[in-house]
Amino acid sequence: MSGVGSGHDARQLLRRILVVGAVAAGGCSKPDPSLSAIANANSFEVEIAQAPIAVTAPGYHISAESANPERARSVERLLAQELQRYPSTYLKACAMRKIVMCSALELDGKSVSALAEQQTHVIYLDVGLWQSRRDTIHHELFHLFDYELGRHSRLDVDWELLNEDKFRYDNLRFFPRTTPRTEVPKGFISMYATTNPGEDKAELFAGLLGDYAGVLNKARADDVLQRKLETLLKRVRDRVAEMNTEYWEQLPISAPLRR
Ligand SMILES: [Zn+2]
Repeated sequence: MSGVGSGHDARQLLRRILVVGAVAAGGCSKPDPSLSAIANANSFEVEIAQAPIAVTAPGYHISAESANPERARSVERLLAQELQRYPSTYLKACAMRKIVMCSALELDGKSVSALAEQQTHVIYLDVGLWQSRRDTIHHELFHLFDYELGRHSRLDVDWELLNEDKFRYDNLRFFPRTTPRTEVPKGFISMYATTNPGEDKAELFAGLLGDYAGVLNKARADDVLQRKLETLLKRVRDRVAEMNTEYWEQLPISAPLRR
């Protein structure tokens, strides 16, 4: 997903598109109180799409339908729970402008459950698909954070140097989310992470939010993953001082690392 977190599950490969363009979204209704409180405190909007969405940009097209209001309500509560795990300084550092809840979210005609537009700082969530993959919001947010750090998803030489000499990212490889982790090469937390540096970082970060202790454990047996972990934690801590070791150690496990 150079630059863009995109949708989990449906077509992993789709998580790599930078999108710019106008969203022809329709009206919206009042979001969940706790989510709107987080949104107000961190200067982003929450929109429940009630009309088709179309975003056309050079090289890709995003489309979506309106969101089922009840489903959107339940997603809002889960979203508030996930976003409350961050210090406000992190959410501000992501410069997220808007979360658009929709359904039938597609990128170039293929279904995705979530995607992030780095240049416009908008995250789309397919309320029909997102619930089963709560960690995706952490993945997508990290793409925005990474972008704000000035790190281009596909080109992060410092990060690439952390890999074993012979390793090469391959954007064209497609790994369904079901790919057993036994096949995950050394230095990676998922097969999808092997597609480009942006996905590598976003997958690792989402893994940390989901199961910090599990990632630490995996890294103890993998020196490449260990140095990536140290680099990622330092980049986050340098930008958001509150996200230090104490912060991570107090995080409850929300998405246990699959073995
Ligand atoms: Zn991504």
